[in-house]
Amino acid sequence: MAKSNRGRSVWKMENRSRGICPICRATRVKLLYTKNKSDRTQIKVCKKCSNADAGKIEAAIDTSKVAYRRKHRRAFDLQYNSGK
Ligand SMILES: [Zn+2]
Repeated sequence: MAKSNRGRSVWKMENRSRGICPICRATRVKLLYTKNKSDRTQIKVCKKCSNADAGKIEAAIDTSKVAYRRKHRRAFDLQYNSGK
């Protein structure tokens, strides 16, 4: 089995395959798993969320506009992780 989610091949992807998981909101994780929402949009989720149930997938946030540099971390946490 080819290791399609490891090494150089993931670096060639957008942002080196890393970003914010739209479901668990973990920052700088590798987003390797594609999920389909009911409106047919595709989202990329992390390994932990690869088995997330449909409800969580529907509740996923749009992370494409969310900055995940360290200087934005505080604002991000306030907005999305304040309940933790
Ligand atoms: Zn996740």
